[in-house]
Amino acid sequence: MDKIKIVVATHNAHKAKEIKALFSKLCQSDVLTLSDVGYDEDIIEDGKTFEENALIKARVAANLGDIGIADDSGLCVDALGGAPGIYSARYAGEPSNDEKNNAKLLDALKNADNRCAAFVSVIGCVLSDGTEFTVRGECRGMILQNMRGEGGFGYDPLFYYEPLKKTFAELSEDEKNAVSHRACAMKNFAEKFKEIIQKN
Ligand code: IMP
Repeated sequence: MDKIKIVVATHNAHKAKEIKALFSKLCQSDVLTLSDVGYDEDIIEDGKTFEENALIKARVAANLGDIGIADDSGLCVDALGGAPGIYSARYAGEPSNDEKNNAKLLDALKNADNRCAAFVSVIGCVLSDGTEFTVRGECRGMILQNMRGEGGFGYDPLFYYEPLKKTFAELSEDEKNAVSHRACAMKNFAEKFKEIIQKN
């Protein structure tokens, strides 16, 4: 059987590496990023949900290979009605800046008693026969009053994960990858993908 050409709608080599590792256990495949297939246009993510945005990106990728995959993620804070949500990357404006985003989040929560939040990751997949599906992974935690830890990126230094009693920025890469929203979405994706492959 020929290798399946899977295009991941990202220019982020780190994300592509994670997805490559996942597919190596699922099927014979070549996992390529948009840069690998020579696509360098910006994809307009004008969906209203993580699911819509993941599929908008996955459809572009599907046109460049056999299967298109994309992930869309963000932080949803209960006291802010789910904000910043799909706007997490640019919460404090363009261009995206983690330090400013974290400062804006602390300011928005300065009078909040409820500091519960969830990191959300949605993976969208589009197959060559037009089948589309999404899976979601979530990880719940608390937003601290001060940043802690040097690792990770984005909101990690403010996101306290109670089971390990550390922020995501205080976890090693392996520790974060074992419990994160993205890891959970990938696990759900693997189950769904196996189901679909077995039916075809
Ligand atoms: P993207 O979907 O990877 O572009 O992520 C959107 C934004 O959500 C990022 O720029 C971060 O601000 C935030 N985010 C998503 N996942 C994480 C994470 O694992 N840690 C910290 N911030 C994250």
